[in-house]
Amino acid sequence: MIYLDNSATTPVDEKVLDTFCKVCMKFPGNANSLHRLGIQAKELEEYATDKIAKLLGVNSHEIIYTSGATESNNTVLKGIASKYKNRGNHIIVSPLEHSSVLETCKYLETKGFKVDYVKLDSSGLIDIDDLKNLLNDKTILVSFSYIDSELGIIQNIKEIKKILKAYPKCYFHVDCTQAIGKIKIDFNDMDFLSMSGHKIFGLKGIGLLVKKEKIVLDNLIHGGKSTTIYRAGTPMLPLICSLMKALELVIPKIQSNYEWVSKLNQMIIEGLKKYDDIHINQMPSSSPYIINFSLKNIKPETFIHAMAEEEVYLSTQSACSSGDISRSLEAVFHDREMASHSIRISLSYKNTDLEIKKFLEVFDRVYRKLLIKND
Ligand code: PMP
Repeated sequence: MIYLDNSATTPVDEKVLDTFCKVCMKFPGNANSLHRLGIQAKELEEYATDKIAKLLGVNSHEIIYTSGATESNNTVLKGIASKYKNRGNHIIVSPLEHSSVLETCKYLETKGFKVDYVKLDSSGLIDIDDLKNLLNDKTILVSFSYIDSELGIIQNIKEIKKILKAYPKCYFHVDCTQAIGKIKIDFNDMDFLSMSGHKIFGLKGIGLLVKKEKIVLDNLIHGGKSTTIYRAGTPMLPLICSLMKALELVIPKIQSNYEWVSKLNQMIIEGLKKYDDIHINQMPSSSPYIINFSLKNIKPETFIHAMAEEEVYLSTQSACSSGDISRSLEAVFHDREMASHSIRISLSYKNTDLEIKKFLEVFDRVYRKLLIKND
C-alpha cells in the first residue's frame, strides 16, 4: 500500500497507540475525582498539558482539549460571535477555509452575522489590500487557515497579524490543522489556534483549541468542569497523553521532516511535469506536503478509484468536501474546469523515496490505461 492521503488523516503511530493503551489501563480515574485515582489522573493530565504547551510554545492555561479541529473551529467562531455580538457582527474568512469554518459561517449568517470572504491574490495568498478594505469597527473575528487542506498554500500570518494590530477588538483565529508539525508556528501571531491529533499520526477524536488566556468565550458545550471551564466532559486523559506523544514525535523534527518531504515533493513534480494534460496547481508558497494537480481528460473520481485498485491512495480534494467542485481552486485559478478535475497528493515524513518511485510507475500505467479507454 502507498498512502498519499495524509492531509485527510494519518495512520496512528504505534508509540502513540501504546501511550493511549497504557494510560487507559494504568490511570482509570476521573481527573476531577478527589480520591487517589483521581489525583493520579490529575497529575498526569497536568504533566501532559505542560508538555504539550512547551512543545507548542504556549501557556498550559491556554489549552482547551476538543474532539478535533472541527470542534475547535466551531468553538471559536460561535463562541466569539455569541460573546461579542454587541460589539459587532462582522467576520472575515477566506475562500480557502475548511468546511468546519465555512459551514459555521453560513450558520452564523442565519443568526444575523455578516461574513466577508477576502480576495486572494494570484499566488493564492490573502490579498492584504482587500483585507484592509474589509476590516471595520464591527469586525469581531478574522479566521484564516495557516495552510489550507487543498492547495497547501502557506499564508503570511505574521503580516496579517500586523494589520490586525490596528483593530484591538477584532480577534485572530488561525486554523493550524495542516500546519502543526509541518512548519514552525508562533502563537504570538494569533489569538486562537486550532489543530487535530489525527493529522500528525495521533488518534482520531482529540484536538486542541489554544486561546489567549485573557480572552473570554461563550462555551459551545456546557456541563461540569473538565480540564478547563470552556469545554465540559470528563477529561479524556488517554487521548490527551496520546496527543502529547504525537506532538513529541513531530515537533522536534519539523525541519528535517520538511527537508525530506520537499525532496519527495520534487520527485513527484518532476514525474508529473512529463504529461502535457496535467496542470500542477502549485503556488510559490505551497507547502511541500501537498501537491495538487488537475487532470484534463479523466474524471478525478475514476482516476482515484483506479489508483486505489493498485493500492495507491490519493484524494480528489479535502476529504470533508469530496464530491463538490473545489472552492479553493476556483478562488485561486478562477477556472471551474480545473477546479472540478483536481487531485491531491498529500505526503508525510514517513513516506519513502521507494514509495514515490513506485507511485510514479503506477501513476503512468493507470493514466495511460484510462486515456486509451477515453479515446
Ligand atoms: N481544518 C483543516 C484545515 C483541515 O484540514 C481539517 C481536516 N480535514 C479540519 C479543519 C477538521 O479537522 P477534524 O477532522 O479534526 O475535525
